[in-house]
Amino acid sequence: MDFSERFRILHTPKSIGKFEDFILKDCCAEDKFISENNGSFSFDAYIGCTNGCTYCYMNRKPYCEFINNKSLKIKSSLLDTEKGRDQIISEVDSKLIELRNHGLMASFVTDPFLPEVLPTTLFLMDLCSKKGISLKVLTKRTDWINKVNLENMHEWKKYISIGFTLTNVDKIETNASPNEERIKAIEYLNNIGYVTFCSIEPIINCEASYFAIYKTFGKCAYYKIGIDSMRKYDSAEMRLFIDRLVLLYMSYTNHISNNSHFPYIYLKNNILDVAEIAETDFENYIKHVTELHNYI
Ligand code: SF4
Repeated sequence: MDFSERFRILHTPKSIGKFEDFILKDCCAEDKFISENNGSFSFDAYIGCTNGCTYCYMNRKPYCEFINNKSLKIKSSLLDTEKGRDQIISEVDSKLIELRNHGLMASFVTDPFLPEVLPTTLFLMDLCSKKGISLKVLTKRTDWINKVNLENMHEWKKYISIGFTLTNVDKIETNASPNEERIKAIEYLNNIGYVTFCSIEPIINCEASYFAIYKTFGKCAYYKIGIDSMRKYDSAEMRLFIDRLVLLYMSYTNHISNNSHFPYIYLKNNILDVAEIAETDFENYIKHVTELHNYI
């Protein structure tokens, strides 16, 4: 198998200004729930996140000047639940074709499975499944899984993909579910028929992130891997991390079973910058690692 085809490069937005605008103005707007940034749609009914990650971008300027990330704020449009839900339906209906084409992501300025946010997220999951909209939900929480009859939600399995962020460093994510529980949740959801994915972002240390991938490999459809722009990384260590991912892929193909995936691995381009690998050489780099290992 040609592994290089499974490794893809993701480009981080060049214009940080636009990205900030999206988060600060659009996602945080009190009077709407769905925001768009260059064809990517996000759903946010709450602002702020109490998972307590020390590296959270919402703790940094300029976000922290607008978002109080120590608490969770419900948008005023949802204070009356019934009216709020009517508004969600009407926003979805007004963008139905675009949402069916591009999908929807929850959420940008909160964790969609915080206990307070859960009822709205379940409402959205049900709505999207009924309207034929692909919805991605990304979380660091597992305490909702046993509260929902996920196994029998057959329509949800067609439209909802469930992702977990994994750093494998619990002490800097104090209120989130432990990484081991997230890893177990991925396996469970994959086994009962959901599409799952992992966000390996940010890498706190390469070793911990590698083991998060190792433990979930074959149980999710894809990985998105990125760094923290404020953190210093070692280029040799980052190259070793990439090499180990290639070797993991090679050994994995000998042990596949039912419900296994050949996952795509999306590396943000700034990882290649740290590893000092030119984007144009990346495919050859992976082939070279594969050949070297076969030779050894
Ligand atoms: S889960 Fe995400 S949004 Fe919530 S505190 Fe952690 S990094 Fe921030």
